Amino acid sequence: MKYLSTRGNATQRGFCEILLEGLAPDGGLYLPAHYPVVDAAMLARWRGLAYHELAYEILSLYIADIPADDLRALTAKTYTAEVFGTEQIVPLRALEPALYLQALSNGPTLAFKDMAMQLLGNLFEYELARRSQVLNILGATSGDTGSAAEYAMRGKAGVNVFMLSPKGRMSPFQQAQMFSLQDANIHNIAIEGVFDDCQDIVKAVSNDLAFKRRHHIGTVNSINWARLLAQVVYYFAGFFQATKRDDESVTFAVPSGNFGNICAGHVARMMGLPIRQLVLATNENNVLDEFFRTGSYRVRSSAETHETSSPSMDISKASNVERFVFDLVGRDAARTQELFKTELDRRGTFTITAAEFARIAGYGFVSGSSTHADRLATIRDTHERFGTVVDTHTADGLKVARDHRSPGVPTIVLETALPAKFAETIVEAIGREPDRPAALRGIERLPKRFEVMPADAARVKAFIAAHS
Ligand SMILES: *Cc1c(COP(=O)(O)O)cnc(C)c1O
Repeated sequence: MKYLSTRGNATQRGFCEILLEGLAPDGGLYLPAHYPVVDAAMLARWRGLAYHELAYEILSLYIADIPADDLRALTAKTYTAEVFGTEQIVPLRALEPALYLQALSNGPTLAFKDMAMQLLGNLFEYELARRSQVLNILGATSGDTGSAAEYAMRGKAGVNVFMLSPKGRMSPFQQAQMFSLQDANIHNIAIEGVFDDCQDIVKAVSNDLAFKRRHHIGTVNSINWARLLAQVVYYFAGFFQATKRDDESVTFAVPSGNFGNICAGHVARMMGLPIRQLVLATNENNVLDEFFRTGSYRVRSSAETHETSSPSMDISKASNVERFVFDLVGRDAARTQELFKTELDRRGTFTITAAEFARIAGYGFVSGSSTHADRLATIRDTHERFGTVVDTHTADGLKVARDHRSPGVPTIVLETALPAKFAETIVEAIGREPDRPAALRGIERLPKRFEVMPADAARVKAFIAAHS
């Protein structure tokens, strides 16, 4: 399998070449040259597989440059009951007939980002060793991404992590999760500023190409193809659990921010997995809902980006949407470039044509949004009727899923985090603290390891130079 850029760069690349890269050189995103099609015989064979075996089968369709035995070992090492809490890894829980929650958040940081990041950690270690190379991962986080990256990369040979976060602005739990890591290769840097300051520093460092090359700076952001690919696997696993036969179909509802999670669902559907609908759910930051309802995509300014009680979906733009639009316009790179470079970069908005918009339904997408009041009502209702506490992001997904249910089609709502991460809103909804997994009780009291720095790229660079 070769990979191409959504903006037409002609050089096709192998999986391991793009594994350690972010954007393609022309500013586009990488996609496979085609989607491998899964036929009935393959589906039938995969139905009985353990999660790590299923992951191997799917990954092997997209990865030609890692020997089969090595890839098998990597997936077996990643998807274990020890790391993800159960043998099924992503178990379904029925709320009512034909309405399920799929647990994606039983990994080390209690959010679905572990599903991909844990694999990425093992892939990076493997590939870096093969090339005798090191990588210094630089990132900015306000919560889930940073902790998932740190737990995936801790103790990995050849990798250092430098993670910037806005000082004092993460929840005490999220801060404890990250700052309690004592691994020598993990560096937490609390910046005296807000999240945007952290992101500006990452950009400034990445724009210094000489520094970037000298210190082997890389990222693990949500446009990374390997992350997306790892997420394709749980759509298959969810389908197998919700159905008895391969000619049934299911609907997935996905709490969405950067469009990474649901884009993996799109890929699974393009491969032939019988997905009736992909229900995209946003919170008050509804840039994606607006796009799927109107055909207009308009990025928001920071002033227009709301701070909500489902904070991991508080985005101003959704980077991965370019991948879907590329498919929607018939993989026309010139048209994609026109939309995302000529129009979006210049004016901050674009509108697809009526003909293009009419094609969206054929890809199964529908959308909706949810508010703080919806979130509270959904958490309360789910608790009262089913005795289940869902987190705030999952509540957004559940609310929008209910708005789009069609009779007879099982709907699977992806559970993207555990409620323990967002205790404050849970208390507001049901009047008590959510349960916390035993291993994480009292983490706020553990010793913390972090540096404090002003919002100054030169200081961060000096720190990286001294510790890489
Ligand atoms: C990251 C995240 C999301 C959004 O996922 P995308 O892939 O960015 O669309 C939703 N919920 C939680 C809990 C997250 O951490």
